[in-house]
Amino acid sequence: VDHELDYPKSPSAMDWSFHYPQYFSYPDQAEPLPGQNTKKVEWADVGCGFGGLLMALAPMFPETLMLGMEIRMSVTKYVTDRIAATRQSQSLAGEGEKQPGEYQNVSVIRANAMKHITNFFDKGQLSKIFFLFPDPHFKNRKQKARIITPGLLAEYAYVLRPGGILYTVTDVKDLHEWMALHLNNHPLFIPIPNSELADDPILEAARTATEEGKKVERNKGDKWVACFRRAEDPVD
Ligand code: SAM
Repeated sequence: VDHELDYPKSPSAMDWSFHYPQYFSYPDQAEPLPGQNTKKVEWADVGCGFGGLLMALAPMFPETLMLGMEIRMSVTKYVTDRIAATRQSQSLAGEGEKQPGEYQNVSVIRANAMKHITNFFDKGQLSKIFFLFPDPHFKNRKQKARIITPGLLAEYAYVLRPGGILYTVTDVKDLHEWMALHLNNHPLFIPIPNSELADDPILEAARTATEEGKKVERNKGDKWVACFRRAEDPVD
């Protein structure tokens, strides 16, 4: 419920230093260190679960700040601890100065992405947004609870920059058809043929690196992929 959820009034009110201490100065820090306060979060994994995608992508793209958004408190805490432990073991393994590849570029936040995504991100801030194995909400009367709905697509289009990519993967065919239908119908999302992303290591991670994706693999289930490019804003 909302009163337990912490979210900034607007993206500029968000203090990211807790999440990415190497990249953001603390509010009471006199001077930013070199390289601090120059980056923004660019990739969001919505409903990140146990964080498998983020842990796979973080060392592959050490210069890109990425964030998981997860509504369950215990799961968010698990991912927070997982990142902290990995950061610590990486920096113990390395010598002296912190180097990229130490998971400094990844974090997780407890949030209801369906309600508050625009509290965290400015217009056009994100270049990638992931919806991987989202909860299916099978019954018709529960479809409005789905994480992709016509109304919410306007919010996702707002935070995604033109040219940015929205990824969906699911093992539920009905949900795949629903997500693809609404994305196809939205003027700001252009379908990307799966063949175009066949060699994309990011899509490969999106399909295989999450905990849910691994479970589907073990059970030899199907995976349905639909990716969309954010269109240019219409000129008025
Ligand atoms: N993406 C992960 C994976 O592939 O392993 C997790 C998939 S799990 C089936 C769906 C996740 O979405 C759950 O962890 C759930 O708590 C989270 N979730 C559902 N609604 C959400 C919301 N409105 N905001 C943030 N997370 C949400």
